[in-house]
Amino acid sequence: MEPKLGNPQNTIDIIKKYNFVFQKKFGQNFLIDTHVLDKIIAAAGITKEDMVLEIGPGIGTMTQYLAEYAGQVVAVEIDSNLIPILEETLQGYHNITVIHDDILKVDIRGLARQYNSGRPIKVVANLPYYITTPIIMGLFEKDVPIGNITVMVQKEVADRMQSGPGSKDYGALSLAVQYYAEPYLVANVPPNCFLPRPRVGSAVIRLTRYQQPPVQVRDAGLMFRLIRASFSQRRKTLQNGLFNSPELTFSKEQISEAIEALGVPPAVRGEALTLEQFARLSDLFCGIPGQKGTSPC
Ligand code: SAM
Repeated sequence: MEPKLGNPQNTIDIIKKYNFVFQKKFGQNFLIDTHVLDKIIAAAGITKEDMVLEIGPGIGTMTQYLAEYAGQVVAVEIDSNLIPILEETLQGYHNITVIHDDILKVDIRGLARQYNSGRPIKVVANLPYYITTPIIMGLFEKDVPIGNITVMVQKEVADRMQSGPGSKDYGALSLAVQYYAEPYLVANVPPNCFLPRPRVGSAVIRLTRYQQPPVQVRDAGLMFRLIRASFSQRRKTLQNGLFNSPELTFSKEQISEAIEALGVPPAVRGEALTLEQFARLSDLFCGIPGQKGTSPC
């Protein structure tokens, strides 16, 4: 079995051996701290029953750890220069499949079917920060069967995922994450735990998928269109945000009536509304036929 890569010297040796050049465009910052790796594995609660999807294995540092604890590991890596390195660092492990592809183009439901008979999978990653939101939203919105997602993200993004109304970090990502999952901050991680060091602070966050969302809503798609509209122009009132949205077709009168029925001030901003209130607002619009079209529910 190949040397463990959590050790910084082993990471440097393999990078030198292959003359590997870090690519900024792929968000490549490799983990070189075994304590952080241990925390990620523990927080994800990985057992031999689990199939784990790793997004962006890099040179295979976390992949080696995952393979020891999980039943199956499927790792998707976009950078072709890393594939021969992974062949070396992961040789000797018989429960790892490396797929050379862009995670945003992979049929993850298909992977869960193929490798886990459609049962919930766990997702673990030190994410490439430039595509954190599309990856997380894709996992939730494409109905991938998921137990939990334990990921390294930019500290600021971890804050956004956990924040509520009244906080400057509160936004569409907070509401989406909190509708689908329970967020838990596992650890803050400083730049010196990576090679090369990122310019921003990082954090590991675990998102445990709800069996039932915490609020009931008749049309979640409409609720998320309302949420996006409310936050796309943060400093505008909710009323203007909804009226100006290209995704919505309600008249000014219909919007005012719904806001009044919700029982909030007419000049309220979207950032003051809770998830529960967005769900109620969405149900109020469900009953109204849109003037420039009809509401979808
Ligand atoms: N897991 C490794 C570690 O912790 O050391 C590497 C993490 S590094 C922050 C992000 C990894 O994601 C890199 O290996 C990068 O090449 C890969 N990556 C970037 N964009 C990707 C994409 N669209 N699909 C799959 N992998 C991607």
